[in-house]
Amino acid sequence: MGTIPAGFGAEEGMLTIGGRRVDALVAEAGDTPLFVYDFGLVRQRVDRFRAAFPGVQLHYAVKANPFAPLLGSILNLVDGLDVASAGELRLALLQGAPPETVSFAGPGKRDTELEEAIRAGVTLNCESEGEAERAIAIGQRLAKAPKLAVRVNPDFEIRGSGMRMGGGAKPFGVDAERVPALVRRIVDAGADWRGFHIFAGSQALDAGALIDAQRATLDLAANLSEAVGAAPATLNLGGGFGIPYFHGEQSLDLKFVGDALIDNLNSRAQVLENTVIFIELGRWLVGEAGVYLTRIVDRKVSHGKTFLVTDGGMHHQLAASGNFGQVVRRNYPVAIANRMDEPPTEEASIVGCLCTPLDRLGDDLLVPSAAPGDLIAIFLAGAYGLTASPQIFLAQQPAGELLVGV
Ligand SMILES: *Cc1c(COP(=O)(O)O)cnc(C)c1O
Repeated sequence: MGTIPAGFGAEEGMLTIGGRRVDALVAEAGDTPLFVYDFGLVRQRVDRFRAAFPGVQLHYAVKANPFAPLLGSILNLVDGLDVASAGELRLALLQGAPPETVSFAGPGKRDTELEEAIRAGVTLNCESEGEAERAIAIGQRLAKAPKLAVRVNPDFEIRGSGMRMGGGAKPFGVDAERVPALVRRIVDAGADWRGFHIFAGSQALDAGALIDAQRATLDLAANLSEAVGAAPATLNLGGGFGIPYFHGEQSLDLKFVGDALIDNLNSRAQVLENTVIFIELGRWLVGEAGVYLTRIVDRKVSHGKTFLVTDGGMHHQLAASGNFGQVVRRNYPVAIANRMDEPPTEEASIVGCLCTPLDRLGDDLLVPSAAPGDLIAIFLAGAYGLTASPQIFLAQQPAGELLVGV
């Protein structure tokens, strides 16, 4: 089992989130299952980023957690939002995000989505030549120059990253060697060319690998700009900062990555001198700030093994069940939230309420003896939680969400 992230407390044996007891939070929300996000922890993350990356802009990738109150609060702390659908674009604009600070990436954008983005004045990160042509045509029809950046499929990836988004044949971005021609086409068509978006991987914990990828990204952007013969207004370096989920994983050394990037920026190619550099982060900003709370409904023994059966499961927190990109199922950090002061005394497995063997929330854990009515806390639920889970599977009850610490 991984380590419970820093920033949580306990009061009389009851877990606290943002200084509030979880039993009171459940009462406030009305019931379990419930996601609670501590905005105080998100704010600390932003502060740490600012300290480590002076002069680099920070964007929030909405898909990590689009909960409206969280989005409304985080957009005041960051320099922009990255959305990956017209639905996310609407969520961002509804919360008051200035359109000129929003960029829209993602394959398979429909004409209606392109039109919505162009009308709103957000930057489209073009994923292909075909998409760029459609955006240009829509801009001409609307008599409005679309803001177009080109997403580059780099010829490298972040070594050891959890999810590969670049390198080789990919549905994302335009292969690097075809990018200069596309940029020339965008400029010739009278569109507002905004620059490059180069996203090489996700969930990276190895600072050295991130540093290498960022250096390679700067070099690639400089080479492409020189080939185009124009300086990009912006360069989105991607993100990919990971968080430790499992036993033995270590937090990313942020200062190490920041110092190296600042060094590389100080010696950057002249063509990038006035380019605004930004990094887009999802998981690293919000992942550790969220906790998924569920209640034990049943306690049973089968062939000598104890099962704690909860009212939640993979329909809310798919990732903790091991079915969201993991190769081998491993346990997220878990606690019996109302027995934080009790020592572990027994081995038990925590499962969800879905009638499928996939619905496992913790295998063979050493926990204090727990009973129906007790609360289970599953940590690291702030990113790719509720909206990355099959919520309508089995028509189970929905989960609540609560933001504290604003
Ligand atoms: C998913 C995604 C992100 C966020 O990735 P994290 O690993 O959560 O930081 C950023 N940019 C793009 C283009 C994405 O698709």
